[in-house]
Order: sequence, then C-alpha cells, then structure tokens
Amino acid sequence: MDYRARQKRLWQLLEEKRLDSLLVTHLPNVRYLCGFSGSAGVLLASPSGSTLFTDGRYTQQARAEVERARVVITRKAALAAVGERLRRDSSRASVRVGIETEHLTVGARALLGAAARGRTRFLAASGMVEQLRRTKDSEELKLMRAAARLGSQIFERVIRKVRPGIREVEIAAELEFAARRAGAEGMSFATIVAAGPRSALPHARASVQRVPRRGFMVFDFGVILDGYCSDMTRTVHVGRPDPRSRALYAAVLEAQEAGVQAVRPQAAAGDVDRAAREVLERHKLARYFTHSTGHGVGLEIHEGPRLAKGQSEKLRDGMVVTVEPGVYVSGRGGVRIEDMVLVTAGGPQILTTASKELLTL
Ligand code: ZN
Ligand code: ZN
Repeated sequence: MDYRARQKRLWQLLEEKRLDSLLVTHLPNVRYLCGFSGSAGVLLASPSGSTLFTDGRYTQQARAEVERARVVITRKAALAAVGERLRRDSSRASVRVGIETEHLTVGARALLGAAARGRTRFLAASGMVEQLRRTKDSEELKLMRAAARLGSQIFERVIRKVRPGIREVEIAAELEFAARRAGAEGMSFATIVAAGPRSALPHARASVQRVPRRGFMVFDFGVILDGYCSDMTRTVHVGRPDPRSRALYAAVLEAQEAGVQAVRPQAAAGDVDRAAREVLERHKLARYFTHSTGHGVGLEIHEGPRLAKGQSEKLRDGMVVTVEPGVYVSGRGGVRIEDMVLVTAGGPQILTTASKELLTL
C-alpha cells in the first residue's frame, strides 16, 4: 500500500486547516495511513514525521506492519504518551493538533489534555482521513474486487444447501465457514439470513428459525480480505413463487438496476437513491422501501458517501458504493438486492459477481 501518497494527501488537508498534526484515534484510519492493524494504538500524523504509539502486545506486529511512521511502544496509556510528546513539542511554540472528535471519548480527551498541558491546542478535525478513504487506489480495488468475488462464490456454493426445515443459523454458519476456509479474516458484520416472514425485517440476523416450505429468503453478508469488506445481498425463493411475489422481486431488481445505472462521477449521492426509489414509486411499492439506497464500503462496512434522499455529495471516480433497495411487506416477506459498484468515468462497474435472477429452491 502506498502510505506515503496517503499521508501526502493528508498533509494538504492539514495545511488547509492550519493544523500541525492530526491525532488519529480511529483504528481504520490508523491502518489506512501506516498499515498498523492492531486493536490498540494511536497515530500522531505530522508532515514533520508520524509516530505510532502502541503497547507491548504489538511490538512485533507494529515492526512488521508499520510504514512511514516511527513506532513507540509505551507502558502507559498511549494517549498519555502522546500528550507528553506534545508537551515537549509545544515548549517552544504553540502546536495545533487536530483530533477526531467522533472517535475520542470524553475520558480520553481529558487524559490527553492533562498530559499535554502547555501550549498545545486541540481542534476538532473529524472526517479528514475518512475523506481520503472515500476513493480507493488500485491496490485497494484489487482487494475489494477479490472480496466481492469471494462473497459471491461462497453464496453460490452454500445456497445449494438450503431446504425447508434447516435453521437460518446453519446456513449462516456454512457461509462463514466457507469464507474462513477461503482465507477471509472474518465477516464484515453479523450475517443476515432471514427466511419466510422474517425476510420482511430489513436487518434480521440469522436466527434459530427454520426455513419454511415457501417464501422469500434474504442473505446479506460480507467477507473481510486483508482488512477490506465486501457487502452483498441476494434474495431467493423457497418453493414456487406466486405471481405477486414474482412481481415484487422484478420491481426490486428493476429499481436496483436503475440505481446502479445512476452511479457515475459527478452524480449526487442522492440521485442514485432517487433513481431506485422512482422505480418503486411507479410500482406503488415505495412505502415499503424504508431505508436508504446504499453506502460507501472499504476498510469499514459503512463509509461515506451515504446514498440517501437529498444527499448532495458528488460521486467520484474510484469510490465503491453499494446499491441495495428493498421492499418489506409484513406478512408476505421482503426482497433486497445489493451489489458493490465501482464509480468510473466509463460507467458503473458491478463488483459483485453472483447472479440476480430470481432463484427458486
Ligand atoms: Zn449488505
Ligand atoms: Zn450494505
């Protein structure tokens, strides 16, 4: 990964905000800037030299992973060590340090302030690294393509094991086992498997419910490869679908494809949502579409931009977003279809390879 290029982009943002450094406390941001994937550590990122503060559990890991930052192994709380460093740095001139206010607890902020004292000024600087992370570089895209492909492959394999009477958790276990065996670090989030009436719950985690003889079944899951998340949803039908269920599925598929087609550079994020929603309005199903159309994805499962009503943020070349409209009809069931889509000047590129034909099991 090109950590040098990433940090250089950050220095530009720091300059715009007249900050001397950014204290990075959100772990995915730490990983993005210097490669450290441990579960405890903070990065003091500065054009004059970045430093990762972590503890003795990560001595070896930090040495192996971290690039473009010095590593300091500390016995005290990492933030106390950072504070002391800043106290020294600010002994000559005042220092302006950005803090990730959305990723710093009140207690940690107090600890930091007490250790720094002196002439360090802490300024709210949320979302700076997240801003950089929105567009993916070629190495990231390689991993994300591979993660999306892996998710699709295990889905197509595991789907053959679905039959009435099997419990949702068993299918979730099969997906997760297959993902691990294929080299995934884990799942992007708690796997959603929802059969029959439960498919009408947009965020139903796999439960001990058994798959009924007839009805929709929604799978929403993702795998993590080298830190990068995939995210996909497919809906299948157990038993023969009646005409109304077929129509429901066709409408969601049409909405999803309209949303995908709206994914292009310079489109507003809200335009993608509108494109999908308009199709469902035409089919008189919009009132059953109760969430937003999609989100960015990468080191985290939910990143910017948000593809929701009224979002004016412009899509850019290199962003990876999901397009996932759904309808949820209580009593009948739900349908959701989700792909990961790469924004390119040449048009939307769908990274999820699994078929979207209505599969009848
Ligand atoms: Zn999903
Ligand atoms: Zn999603």
